[in-house]
Amino acid sequence: MKLENIRAIVTGAASGIGRCITLELARAGAQVVGGDLDVDSLKELETENVGLPGKIYGIHLDVANETSVKDFITQAFEKIEDINTLVNNAGILRDGLLVTRDEEGWLRKLPTAQWKRVIDVNLTGAFLMAREFAAAAIERNIASSLIVNISSVTRSGNPGQSNYSASKAGLDADTRTWALELAPFGFRVAGIAPGLTNTPILSRVSPEALAQMTAQIPLGRIAEPYEIWQAMRFIIECDYFTGSVIDVDGGARF
Ligand code: NAD
Repeated sequence: MKLENIRAIVTGAASGIGRCITLELARAGAQVVGGDLDVDSLKELETENVGLPGKIYGIHLDVANETSVKDFITQAFEKIEDINTLVNNAGILRDGLLVTRDEEGWLRKLPTAQWKRVIDVNLTGAFLMAREFAAAAIERNIASSLIVNISSVTRSGNPGQSNYSASKAGLDADTRTWALELAPFGFRVAGIAPGLTNTPILSRVSPEALAQMTAQIPLGRIAEPYEIWQAMRFIIECDYFTGSVIDVDGGARF
């Protein structure tokens, strides 16, 4: 696919990696509908787009809410009738150990709601978006389409992230599953597993944990969002790439 022919939906477009991918797509001449809970930042993104060759529309979206996802897809195809790309980027962290003792010696358990919220946003959200986007694109006979799922280096397990790691491992499994299921309809489905990346999500990681993880990165630093975009650009341009996840992690394995 050529960058300038991309008509994309990007979830979690208001911040970090999603914001970078949205702006870089518009810079390359693509049209993008950005979805996010944070409507004010989406408005800023639309303003930043003025003067770029492409176009950005911002629409409220809660990926964890089925009604919101369906309304968003309807509105997105009203803005751009031939959307051919979905970037499942929206994601959250709500870290906590499975069981631990607090300072007073009381046993604390990871609350079920904390487990569920991360699975709802990171995994069920991506499922709802992929299903509704695929149905809408197939219904409109869009010839070739692409879904890119944003995974994580911690998908194979990381202390304090049983919810997050499980959500990303599940997402990788569905990258492969959807690639196989949707290939007959002309879809490619791929993933990117970033390592630590310089975005606001890291404000949820303690400075000590961040320093400890950064020390384990062979390249000696965390990534910039633009470096995740570079993998995205490769996936867009390589028409033979499907069913796999690209690690962009400076060589780190947590
Ligand atoms: P970020 O917090 O900067 O951006 C995430 C965006 O998602 C925010 O704008 C937020 O409002 C939005 N969002 C959250 N819940 C939502 C919902 N229910 N519906 C719609 N939008 C929602 O984070 P980021 O670092 O840019 O993360 C983007 C993706 O990259 C996530 O999937 C994250 O898991 C993944 N990732 C990030 C890192 C990192 O170190 N930054 C590493 C590996 C993977």
